[in-house]
Amino acid sequence: MAGQVVDYLSGFLTALPDAPLADLSVPHELLADPDLRRPPPEDGRALGELLAVVDRAARPGLNPASPGYFAFIPGSGLVSAGLADLVADVLNRYTGMAAPAPGLVALETDVLRWLADVVGLPTSAGGLLTSGGSIATLSALITARHARLGEDFLAGTLYATDQVHHAVVKAARLAGFPTGAVRIVPTDAGLHMDVGALAAAVAADRAAGRVPFCVVGSAGTTNTGTVDPLPQIADLCAREDLWFHVDGAYGGAFALTERGARRLRGMERADSVVLDPHKSLFLPFGTGALLVRDVAALRAAHSGDQDEAGYLHDLDELELPDFAALGPELTRDTRGLRLWLPLHLHGVAAFRAALDEKLDLAAAAYALLRDVDALTLLGPPELSTIAFHCSGPGTPEEVDARTAELLRRVNAEGRVFLASTRVRGRRLGRLCVLNHRTDRARLDEAVSALTRHAKALAAP
Ligand SMILES: *Cc1c(COP(=O)(O)O)cnc(C)c1O
Repeated sequence: MAGQVVDYLSGFLTALPDAPLADLSVPHELLADPDLRRPPPEDGRALGELLAVVDRAARPGLNPASPGYFAFIPGSGLVSAGLADLVADVLNRYTGMAAPAPGLVALETDVLRWLADVVGLPTSAGGLLTSGGSIATLSALITARHARLGEDFLAGTLYATDQVHHAVVKAARLAGFPTGAVRIVPTDAGLHMDVGALAAAVAADRAAGRVPFCVVGSAGTTNTGTVDPLPQIADLCAREDLWFHVDGAYGGAFALTERGARRLRGMERADSVVLDPHKSLFLPFGTGALLVRDVAALRAAHSGDQDEAGYLHDLDELELPDFAALGPELTRDTRGLRLWLPLHLHGVAAFRAALDEKLDLAAAAYALLRDVDALTLLGPPELSTIAFHCSGPGTPEEVDARTAELLRRVNAEGRVFLASTRVRGRRLGRLCVLNHRTDRARLDEAVSALTRHAKALAAP
């Protein structure tokens, strides 16, 4: 069976560079196909037949594993992580607590320690791997809430810009906060948090009887890859005794590189940091990470009353963390292996080089597109994302429509796929370089298609 699966995946990977990138037409025919959408049969079918069904089912939609994928925040799907998953799933050891699988929990703990070192957090830090950035953010805000507000938290107020990922606002709601608890802090012309305005908002809220408790800084926004002024936010949080959370789901891992570490300075002062290895460490979807400066605060917010759980009593506590006491899950997959195996197999230098290459490619795209009169660029990339719109005459609506048409034409060629976003009411095209398979040749294809179509759209 494994051989058949490997053959199928080899074919997928061989075809991947030229495979379709995006088909967003709704595949009514496929979705209604009775051969595909059968109830599970009483007697099984051949694996080969089923892999063919999976292959057809995987065709429509988007293909973030492709080197031509520059939309949203690209995924990658490191094959070695997939192999680690296979091993972990078949071994099927229980890692919710340390005692049933101390060796595997130790490997995962070492990976978390390495991540904390990349971010620059002290030895008091700890955390856990989650299914993604959203769940990690939820646990971060619950920890901040528990540490700073206790049980009577409805007057608590947290601060973020309008560029913050919506996962933060959603997490605040899930953590029990009323809608008004999230204060939107203005941004400067470059979309960075205005720390003067933040200080003013905190003071005004205190005067009005609210309880400021947390500031969320972005270590790379999803819209434009903008990094908030983290050192200044850290200063304000220290002065005002606020929990400093950094959302590094897109950008945090760039701290592995020299340039990234420079741009992300201040992240090491956070009380909690979210990373998303399924974005910027190229892993398959399903891997986020939460790191908390004082792991005791994370534990205090999440550990249930385990004395009440009679069925857990046979398990002694070890020097290792019980991940179930640090997050919402009890039973979980052996998530650590999918990070541990690739890191040890390829070496950290390979990850650093890949991230450096993404920074280089984004800088190269900026340098080339900056000189195209038909395009207006937002600014040099702070990480690996550039944002742009069409130049030239017309109302904002007309320019927005031209930018949308530009992306439509570029995407229609089928070699690259870009998506747009809305910032301050305007449509921006985005080029986010993050897939580990994206190389200079494919970036040049994107740049040349953007240049060609932008010029054609600008011609009277
Ligand atoms: C993707 C993203 C999130 C949400 O993470 P998921 O892994 O999609 O749940 C949060 N913040 C930022 C900046 C992101 O890019």
